[in-house]
Amino acid sequence: MRATLDFVNNIFDHYNILCFGGRLPRLPIRLTDSLTHLGAFVHPKVWPASRPRGAGECHIRVSRCLDRSEDELVDTIVHEMIHYYIWYTHTVDDGPHGRCFLALMNEINNRLGLTMSVRGQTTSETLDSDKRIKPHYICITHWRDGRRLITVCARTRLFEIHADFAACPRVIAIEWWWSADPWFNRYGLTRTAKAMFITDADYENHVATATPCTCDGRTFQPLTARQPSSKF
Ligand SMILES: [Zn+2]
Repeated sequence: MRATLDFVNNIFDHYNILCFGGRLPRLPIRLTDSLTHLGAFVHPKVWPASRPRGAGECHIRVSRCLDRSEDELVDTIVHEMIHYYIWYTHTVDDGPHGRCFLALMNEINNRLGLTMSVRGQTTSETLDSDKRIKPHYICITHWRDGRRLITVCARTRLFEIHADFAACPRVIAIEWWWSADPWFNRYGLTRTAKAMFITDADYENHVATATPCTCDGRTFQPLTARQPSSKF
């Protein structure tokens, strides 16, 4: 089938609910005659940090030239929606198809039976094959806009990272965890207060089962008494 605007907008609305909780504002979708690009998410390259991101200045392009199956079209549209979501939510990723993009893509593929892929991607199998046991100092930050993000910190930078998040007005709560689970190897070690996306399922399976800890800016230790997670 060839893409039509009706079809593409319906797919956008449908997967916006299924994948992004309906959080993505509708944006212009343009049909192109490209033979080389199935789809693209187009947004301004420079964006002042203080300016909220909206649908008005970005758009998704989908090629109507290529005759593709309905499933292939859906894969293309949802792929571009992941780019839109990452941009719209100010999520920091470590590449155009970085860890955050791949985590979202794999989660949606697994849950909804889509078959999205990216060229040169690191598959979840590759990530899961890293079985080295290492200590992980895990910071979970809760943001004013409702997001919950992860930072797997270098041990030597832990207190600096804690101070930076504590000073950030958009961070409303900080949790600390310790784990030797090789699953966290996929994040690498972060040396600055850079938070990354984690799916709810990954949080439940890997973070919520780790050892809860406290950090007061000078000491880091396992949580013994019942203490609420707090910012400071
Ligand atoms: Zn892409």
